[in-house]
Amino acid sequence: MKRREINFSNTSDDSCNTVGCNNPVKRSVSRKKVDAITSLNVEGTGRKVSLCQACYRLFKKYTKKDRAMESFGR
Ligand SMILES: [Zn+2]
Repeated sequence: MKRREINFSNTSDDSCNTVGCNNPVKRSVSRKKVDAITSLNVEGTGRKVSLCQACYRLFKKYTKKDRAMESFGR
């Protein structure tokens, strides 16, 4: 856990909002949708959540699963 003294106003917006993930942001998605996915823990309280490519893939996967749950047989 490193802490930076210098505060660039934009820095925090550039990394993924998922807890424990610091990858560069790829997409912004609605927070409500992310909240529905228990496997994705995000920080912050904004209406939008920034996700990196990997987390966005997860997001897509789970939102898709929600729609096509039967085909997964689980
Ligand atoms: Zn991420």
